[in-house]
Amino acid sequence: MTTLPETTRRKLGLVIDLDTCVGCHACVVNCKEWNTANYGAPLADIDAYGADPSGTFLNRVHSFEAKPESGPAAVVHFPKSCLHCEDAPCVTVCPTGASYKRVEDGIVLVNESACIGCGLCAWACPYGAREMDGAEHVMKKCTLCVDRIYNQNLPEVDRIPACVRTCPAGARHFGDLGDPDSDVSQLVAERGGMDLMPEQGTRPVNKYLPPRPKADQAPAADIDVLAPFLEPVAEDATGFLGWLDRTLGRL
Ligand code: SF4
Ligand code: SF4
Ligand code: SF4
Repeated sequence: MTTLPETTRRKLGLVIDLDTCVGCHACVVNCKEWNTANYGAPLADIDAYGADPSGTFLNRVHSFEAKPESGPAAVVHFPKSCLHCEDAPCVTVCPTGASYKRVEDGIVLVNESACIGCGLCAWACPYGAREMDGAEHVMKKCTLCVDRIYNQNLPEVDRIPACVRTCPAGARHFGDLGDPDSDVSQLVAERGGMDLMPEQGTRPVNKYLPPRPKADQAPAADIDVLAPFLEPVAEDATGFLGWLDRTLGRL
């Protein structure tokens, strides 16, 4: 089994805005494109144009219709990739040390040459954020675009994750969540950013910003229609988070 660092010098991660994500999948496509050509190369596509296509993706977007007890239903687009957890069970369960968390920036990676394809990490991850590559039979996951963010050969504007660079809605943000003064930390504080499934005890670095009330869905007189979606992070996973927990649990 593999040990985690007691602490990391930075906590690089993503902040994803569930209010502005429009479910366009641009982040999925650009993640696939970048990683098919670079660090995670190639991400398998099997029977791509056949009757039963499958493939490896490091980022996926699920769309749900959320129905509150009263009032109109709301559609939530939910992008999901590795959350680079501080207490990452995918690392501690790894029998070979192939999965590891970097001390310098907190990124969780897989050393593919040491991966034996046992799949234990995928079972341990409560978010379904790991994918076995069907062609190479090694585990793959979001790398936080480690091959972009430090890449001196790229223009500075491109030294951010591919998914963040491409999102047309500005719904994805990247930065150091260990620095309370960083833009991403300030955004999380302002918008009530939340952990995904905090009851799992994984302490994810990535944060999600909850949907805001929509003017055309919530007249001023009954603005509390969406209140269940807007509750702050709760230990017992109620409100929006509870709904999300239950929905993901059915996937
Ligand atoms: Fe959502 Fe942005 Fe991804 Fe489109 S590119 S699905 S808006 S996060
Ligand atoms: Fe590991 Fe899953 Fe957490 Fe990523 S989201 S660090 S794969 S437990
Ligand atoms: Fe994919 Fe990079 Fe975004 Fe991770 S950070 S989801 S690897 S594009």
